[in-house]
Amino acid sequence: MNHLNHWIDGQRSDLTSTRTAPVTDPALGQQTGSVLLADGSDVDAIVASSRAAFETWSDASLSQRTNVLFEYRRLLVEHKDELARAISSEHGKVFADAQGEVQRGLEVVEFACGAPNLLKGEMTPDVSNSVDAYSMRQPVGVVAGITPFNFPVMVPMWMFPMAIACGNTFILKPSEKDPSGSLLMAELFSEAGLPPGVLNVLQGDAEAVNGLLDHPDVDAVSFVGSTPIAKQIYQRATANGKRVQALGGAKNHMIVLPDADVGQAADAAVSAGYGSAGERCMAISVVVAVGDVGDALIPEIVSRTAALKIGPGLSDEPMDMGALVTEAHRERVSSYMDLGLGEGAELVIDGRGLAIDGHPDGFWLGPCLFDRVTADMKIYVDEIFGPVLCVMRVDTYEEALALVNDNPYGNGTAIFTNDGGAARAFQRDVKAGMVGVNVPIPVPMAYHSFGGWKDSLFGDTHVYGPEGVKFYTRYKAVTVRWPDPAERGVDLGFPQAR
Ligand code: NAD
Repeated sequence: MNHLNHWIDGQRSDLTSTRTAPVTDPALGQQTGSVLLADGSDVDAIVASSRAAFETWSDASLSQRTNVLFEYRRLLVEHKDELARAISSEHGKVFADAQGEVQRGLEVVEFACGAPNLLKGEMTPDVSNSVDAYSMRQPVGVVAGITPFNFPVMVPMWMFPMAIACGNTFILKPSEKDPSGSLLMAELFSEAGLPPGVLNVLQGDAEAVNGLLDHPDVDAVSFVGSTPIAKQIYQRATANGKRVQALGGAKNHMIVLPDADVGQAADAAVSAGYGSAGERCMAISVVVAVGDVGDALIPEIVSRTAALKIGPGLSDEPMDMGALVTEAHRERVSSYMDLGLGEGAELVIDGRGLAIDGHPDGFWLGPCLFDRVTADMKIYVDEIFGPVLCVMRVDTYEEALALVNDNPYGNGTAIFTNDGGAARAFQRDVKAGMVGVNVPIPVPMAYHSFGGWKDSLFGDTHVYGPEGVKFYTRYKAVTVRWPDPAERGVDLGFPQAR
């Protein structure tokens, strides 16, 4: 049984709370470990460590910081498969997908290695007689990062490498469902030479989170998770005077126009709908078929779905889709089948009752497909967060666009078409933070930034990329006068350039 505890001052520690939560292997359906859940005194201890480390880390030179980051990158590459195995064994996603997750996190570390360039200020000489002006970016302080279960390595890496490169110290509060990756990441960073206390990991649930949100020595909060919690985190932490970015849930639509390549659109719908068992915030959960393209598209989706290999994420034979994260989540997602049928949708594929040889207790649910879904149905309104694809049929592009724009979420969206004019209008007019044209999961590269609109993001800045640099630093403008010995005299007027 794995004992999953905290990481503080460069080492693992149990701290004081003895409350725990079970950690399970979704493919086995069995408990494999237990994770400690922090209390208020644990929060105090970890914040004190991060605050003390900030005093010295914020003074570390840029080359000291980037030397550690370059070494961290090397170690992450070396330990990529170990991290991926930890992800698969607690999340359930297949090994190749877990490797992809680590890779996308690594790219943010690579971006953070460019901190000397990213943190450069601007300088304007001679803004007035003998006066120069310049700007600089300084660290915010102690940052707390609260992350979801579905990307236990990548989402934390959206946050802490950039925060630390900017001179902050960071407290990671990972999901209690799959905490092993957080400890491995912290251990490797320490091995790379990161001083104790610069990255701490606090395991826990709402009690730990609320402790961090209320702590006067936490300066900023990055959150990624579901919309109700994101909103709550944003309100509580901003009321406490903290800087907050809180990314929420999603309902991502993929519009297929009648002129689209149907085979390509079906490939995309199946990949983006069922990859990682639909437990991705950028998963496609709604296909909006315009005109009569649905008649050709549905059989293509069905045939591809039938060919998917479903099984344990770490099996010798590569799989396409693994188990869902917990039994409770599998039950919740499954409950939408009867709900959708009751609402009048057509259940084209029912993934319930899937049995996997040798893994009778795994949290399995096969791909599910609903057709003729309408906007008033709960299967459309709710974020289901499982392998469930809903097809909606509309007559025109305008109706499809209105559907996306009227939805309260605005994380990602995609359009499939060969009409450049329609695609151009769509990327301009759609109300979502990330848009794909013939790309179903438009997750930006590390040197752009990630974030949604509407109920998918509370706060002003997106994560990683240039927006990440902005979030993890405070802007300061400096005006300097080295007086010309010839210029003297009192002037009570408001400073103006002369
Ligand atoms: P969640 O909101 O349940 O949990 C996220 C984090 O918040 C966890 O660390 C959890 O311990 C903590 N938490 C849970 N309940 C809390 C409470 N009452 N008070 C304080 N903290 C609490 O999300 P999840 O189920 O772990 O992850 C799936 C969700 O995350 C989905 O909604 C998905 O769309 C979203 N997500 C969004 C993005 C994005 O970039 N927008 C990325 C990944 C996941």
